[in-house]
Amino acid sequence: MFVRVAVPIPSVQTFTYAVPETFVPAVAIGKRVLVPFGKRRVTGFIVEVLNEAVCHQKLREILDLPDPEPLFDAEDLTFYEWISRYYLHPLGKVLGELLPGGISVQSERWLCRNDGAATADQRLSVRQKEILEHLAGCPKGILLSRLRRALGKNDLYGDLHVLEAAGLVISEERLTRPAVRPKKEKWVELGPELPAGMNFTAKQSALIGFLRERGEMPVIDLHDLFKNTLSSLRTLENKGVLHLFEKEVSRGPGPAPTIGKNENGITLNEAQTMVLDGILECLASGRFSPCLLYGVTGSGKTEVYLRAIAEVLGGDGGAIYLVPEIALTAQLLSRIGSRFPEREIAVLHSGISQSARYDQWKRIWRGEVRVVVGARSALFAPVRNLRLIVVDEEHDSSYKQDDRLRYNARDLALVRGRFSETTVILGSATPAVQSYFHAAEGRYRCLTLPARIDDRPLPQVEVVDLRTERDERGLTPLLSRTLVEAIRATLAGGQQTLLFLNRRGFHTYLFCPDCGHVFSCPNCDISLTHHAAEGVLKCHHCDFTVKIASRCPSCKGSRIRSYGAGTERVEEEVKKLFPAARIARMDSDTTTRPGDSERILRRLDRGEIDILIGTQMITKGHDFPAITLVGVVAADASLNIPDFRAAERTFQILTQVSGRGGRGDQPGRVVIQTFTPGHYAIRRAQEHDYTGFYADELPLRRQLAYPPFSRLIGLQFSSLKKEEGKRAIANIGARARELARSMTGGKTEVIGPAESPLARIRGRHRWQLLLKGKESRSLHLLAQRLMEGTGRDGLEIQVDVDPVNFM
Ligand code: ADP
Ligand code: ZN
Repeated sequence: MFVRVAVPIPSVQTFTYAVPETFVPAVAIGKRVLVPFGKRRVTGFIVEVLNEAVCHQKLREILDLPDPEPLFDAEDLTFYEWISRYYLHPLGKVLGELLPGGISVQSERWLCRNDGAATADQRLSVRQKEILEHLAGCPKGILLSRLRRALGKNDLYGDLHVLEAAGLVISEERLTRPAVRPKKEKWVELGPELPAGMNFTAKQSALIGFLRERGEMPVIDLHDLFKNTLSSLRTLENKGVLHLFEKEVSRGPGPAPTIGKNENGITLNEAQTMVLDGILECLASGRFSPCLLYGVTGSGKTEVYLRAIAEVLGGDGGAIYLVPEIALTAQLLSRIGSRFPEREIAVLHSGISQSARYDQWKRIWRGEVRVVVGARSALFAPVRNLRLIVVDEEHDSSYKQDDRLRYNARDLALVRGRFSETTVILGSATPAVQSYFHAAEGRYRCLTLPARIDDRPLPQVEVVDLRTERDERGLTPLLSRTLVEAIRATLAGGQQTLLFLNRRGFHTYLFCPDCGHVFSCPNCDISLTHHAAEGVLKCHHCDFTVKIASRCPSCKGSRIRSYGAGTERVEEEVKKLFPAARIARMDSDTTTRPGDSERILRRLDRGEIDILIGTQMITKGHDFPAITLVGVVAADASLNIPDFRAAERTFQILTQVSGRGGRGDQPGRVVIQTFTPGHYAIRRAQEHDYTGFYADELPLRRQLAYPPFSRLIGLQFSSLKKEEGKRAIANIGARARELARSMTGGKTEVIGPAESPLARIRGRHRWQLLLKGKESRSLHLLAQRLMEGTGRDGLEIQVDVDPVNFM
């Protein structure tokens, strides 16, 4: 017996191995297998079982079969193969990235300092020197994961690349057996009595008071409230005031979430009933039925999804329910958990541990779990008899994975639905232009919920023109008077404020605060990025470069400013303005640990936060009735990112964030600050007018031949050596144009190559190239041919099919 094995390496090839007698009964498609590969041993996946091998030379034998059960079957495999072809990503890598790993035998990178090499180069970065120093202390070498932990850094690859290339470090694949250890968490508890005659600082007293009120609690929950908690707690422990201990944490989907309210006994309104009927029809057909559910925020979409899932479960089917952010699953789970048997629900997202993920995967595979809820990776769960896939907030860019296999879970939901003949519901208050286009063309069934539940009004949206705002010093303020007054009034009324800043727009661009003119590319119609060090403005799309002008070409004003402000600055400013308010910040910096965002949301829910400042993380889905004011600090930030979807993104974000306000009995108020109040994305958002926005946007897309009127494939190249890389890139660009002519008769446009927006990351120089064409197949062939010819010259290539941003 022989098996064909997909190995996680950058090659499209699969490899055939012989199966020794002892393993024959256990061999099956979808099982992991340990095989010799060159000098290494690697874990691959069995993708085919053969009775005869085509090739007659002596084949190597498999070494181990760690899985008692397969992780996928032949039907799942056709889906994975499709993904591999479409995203131009080797099958072995696709499987390695999508399936849960980390439980069985695997090989890991093992690193060692090369003592033969000359002493460290002066030009090494601090981090690189740190790595070398650490390695010097490990004469036998160290596992990469160990090194990561020791340095407290996850992204070491770039630095290791540099060190390896310089011959200072040697790496090798070695076998490990990652232990699945119980997870522990630190807890704290007050002692039975306070020791007498002790003085405490204000902070210590506050801590003690808090613990007295709460009883025992996880230390991590205190981090939000007190700074440097652990050291304070240690001091108090030494004084005998309290004691710290460890508690084992269960690795299930986590404790039953308590955010939000439970609602049962809801009667669907007329619009909801019609939508549900439409979905039930699709389900009854037993065929692939793609639907777009366009419903304003708070129109009762979730309620409809839950009814549809109930229907599927009643018929012994299974369902997948995707949400864009992990943070959203908690609130959703409390709604789902109260309706369906808890045992039949699994949560999958990247925030849960590998071992929990693996356990869940097995339960799903056995059919014990029939509803899977989660972020994008949950789409690949091996749900039995899959009948329904819901993609909530389908327009959301977090469905797109931005590294390694750059898939879009929204698009793949449709592909999976087609393979397994299921109903797929894409739901949104602000559908992607592309999705709405397909629905309008009749490719998706269009379902609509036009009004909010109980006809609650949509919030009043005010637009503040920042061009006319000045502070005492004559500068454009971060927060306008209107917004500051609105916050003050909201605080006085005991209600909550959400302040939103779009981090995506964190790149800086130049504009004229007098007339709102933004310096943009004459070729590409996107804003130019400010490269302060070189004194130039650059187009990250076509590489157009221009010197920074001192005057505005439009109004001759001379106050050219760069813009780009982070959430931290906003927090500072708000603290200064409202010292008595309870302020919290929610962004990728304050939510690095699992559970962080849930904790912040729970505090918001309990009314312990007056003003929450955050990035798009806070714009989605959350339903908090006490929020009555939403402030958008800089609407332009997302309008001026170099991306043809900038207007779409901006409209979506503004509409979604506005939808957070006034969900309870109090009417909501939204204040949007902008330098371009006349832009259609902002005007349409102010009017809550999606179809109006769509009607404005579509002709522009058609005119510039952007999706949905074309398809794009982005290629990103990186090299350690700038000059060599540059030469190779120029060749690739020429070859791409040549291939576009010969293969597609000039129907494919080649844009670039240009330097990437982040031109150098961790020692690697980066360039990008965009292929644009009407026809997906020829575009794919072209990209494939182009990639086959490269990969030498130390170039690394990343492909991005249907890129969401211009990378
Ligand atoms: P969406 O997903 O469109 O934002 P939800 O389904 O979350 O909307 O509904 C918004 C709120 O209205 C929720 O609190 C939900 O419980 C409630 N709701 C939904 N449908 C109804 C209904 N038919 N009658 C009363 N309340 C409803
Ligand atoms: Zn350009």
